Amino acid sequence: MTIDRYPVARPALSELEERYLLDAYRSGWISSQGPYLRKFEEQFAQRCGSTAAVATGNGTVALHLVLAAAGIGPGDEVIVPALTYIATANSVTYCGARPIFVDVSPQSWCIDVDQVASAIGPRTRAVVAVDLYGHPADYTALRALCARHGLFLVADAAESFGARLNDQVSGSLADATTFSFFGNKIITAGEGGCVTTSDPALADRMRLLRNQGMDPHRRYFFPVIGYNYRLTNLAAALLCAQLERADEIIARRDTVIATYERELTAQPLMNPQPVLPGVQRAPWMASFLVGQPGANGLRDELIRRLEALGIETRPFFVPIPHLPPYARASGEYPITLDLARRGINLPTYAELSDIDLKVIVDRVRSALVQVAGRS
Ligand SMILES: *Cc1c(COP(=O)(O)O)cnc(C)c1O
Repeated sequence: MTIDRYPVARPALSELEERYLLDAYRSGWISSQGPYLRKFEEQFAQRCGSTAAVATGNGTVALHLVLAAAGIGPGDEVIVPALTYIATANSVTYCGARPIFVDVSPQSWCIDVDQVASAIGPRTRAVVAVDLYGHPADYTALRALCARHGLFLVADAAESFGARLNDQVSGSLADATTFSFFGNKIITAGEGGCVTTSDPALADRMRLLRNQGMDPHRRYFFPVIGYNYRLTNLAAALLCAQLERADEIIARRDTVIATYERELTAQPLMNPQPVLPGVQRAPWMASFLVGQPGANGLRDELIRRLEALGIETRPFFVPIPHLPPYARASGEYPITLDLARRGINLPTYAELSDIDLKVIVDRVRSALVQVAGRS
């Protein structure tokens, strides 16, 4: 008997995406200008509580674009969490600046604000906080700290589209916020990204750099070195449809995660992602910690058993200071290390039916029994 296989992520594409995509295609506006791009930037800015949105080719270049536009360069230091996707650190490196890693908080899994304060030095220019697994960082404290030290605050919200902190939406919580629309993100165009801000000068600077640095009033005149970081109108057509359906997609993903939390956390091995008061987490990927703090190997055993049962999962990110390009970084990251050893993501996408969820829950339960028997 063959068993159904469940991927960890899958885009939610409907007839609306198909219709807009075909419309863009037939219009001939398939490159980096067109009505869907204008509409997407306008609607995305509005939904994210900002005055401007600058669409980009992906989430990594969105991060680089905003740091470059803020003038981050050689000799500068930018504080980032040790537990994040590699793009957060690389975007700092692309600027010729140095990422300074700090540990995360066990309460939110996001950058620890006290540790940010201790890491600030004479070369510090900016902080990039990451809304890990959909949970916003503590922007109330981060904004106050950055204001006190004159630092630029970026939110890497690649995983937190739709999240809220004290009724303010993700996209409006920092000086600028970056998003990703990669295939496994909450809304997607396959590849894509965006930066939101309410600083019009920063938005203009990003638009200039996104388009090779070309003077918007003088063709082929390049006052600065820029980049080709543009998004296509085809991708924007998909994103316009995804944005219209965002509430529906988010509601279903919320239900998927709530179901796992209800059905699996009676098992002592599965600890759900903590959510702080005042936070509405974005349902990116259902995230659990396997075993008690310090447990080593149980998570990997669970991943292997689930793989054999047809359930694809993901381990949490490898701590960035443990990766070869950043191994010089000194510092201790005990929370990051523990989360990275115990964290697992389960399949999370809007098209999982109630029956699919029941099948997955049953398989996770039986895998947990096997893992518990061996621990
Ligand atoms: C996905 C992701 C990115 C990068 O996005 P791409 O669109 O894949 O370049 C950046 N930061 C975080 C935290 C992410 O999860």
